[in-house]
Amino acid sequence: MINYLMRRNDWTKEIFDSIDWDAHESYLTKLPYLKAVKVIKYIHDWQNTGAQKKLFDSKRDEPEHQPHEYQCPMKCGSRETAQHFLRCEKVNTTAEMKRVLDSLRKWFHRANTNQVLTTTIMYCITSWLQFGEQPNMTRINIDDESNKDQIIRAVEAQSVIGWDQFFKGRISKYWGDIQQSHYDKERSSPSHNLKKYHDQAWWTTNIIKQVVYIALNAWQIRNDKLHEDKKKNTYNAERIRLHTEVQKWYDCEGEFGDKDHHRQFSKTYIDSKNSTNAALKIWTRAVHSTHTYMKKQETYQNQARITTFAH
Ligand SMILES: [Zn+2]
Repeated sequence: MINYLMRRNDWTKEIFDSIDWDAHESYLTKLPYLKAVKVIKYIHDWQNTGAQKKLFDSKRDEPEHQPHEYQCPMKCGSRETAQHFLRCEKVNTTAEMKRVLDSLRKWFHRANTNQVLTTTIMYCITSWLQFGEQPNMTRINIDDESNKDQIIRAVEAQSVIGWDQFFKGRISKYWGDIQQSHYDKERSSPSHNLKKYHDQAWWTTNIIKQVVYIALNAWQIRNDKLHEDKKKNTYNAERIRLHTEVQKWYDCEGEFGDKDHHRQFSKTYIDSKNSTNAALKIWTRAVHSTHTYMKKQETYQNQARITTFAH
């Protein structure tokens, strides 16, 4: 397996060893069976993309399909290579990209992630997702930061492994080291608000979960478009309706007061979208009633104010 991965990804033994495999495995082993099947298919590019179809046809040696079949089903005009959906502008519309990046930023914040680490990873993945570029560290100013050298070393290591690989949960070992030093430093302060589970292993497992979910979310959007006819299937139709509702609520997340916000938006957008239909139904109903109640309260307060003025 190691040889297969090295050959397939053009990795030397040194690059292979620089990947945080413990975190990768810890993430995979925590997945429920059906989710694991999906994730493993994605990680190994076994999804049914144009690139896969092409490979299949070339083995059959029958020019049966027309080349247009390998085009991206979103009709963006590009050929559909294995990870194209992650960067296809028709999948990742401006609005969806904003939701996804906000979701990730929120996770970093909740996980008490080092600020420089957050800024750096957000910058790196945004340049890769939106422009397909390797990060150019002169574009973000971290010169005065105490962990600057470690950060730059991590970015370089990840660029060698590949930023596409980052989205498959193959992350550099350095990221977790940087975050662990941050947790250590925080813990030395008596007023810290870290939980017992906050450590390198927890952080790396969960950042992998977040980025893999981002990829699966994009894959789902691509599939919904490709199989528009299957939307008639009740489960899918309901899922699409629920996802639209999830988007709507996350877009107006800011309208909720602190307490309601804490209660209803404890999951990130990406986590919510990956929940089951049953869980989403319960959640959207709860948010809806909180929102209705909130709006009613506002109306009462306004009426009370008007009444006070009238007297
Ligand atoms: Zn496309």
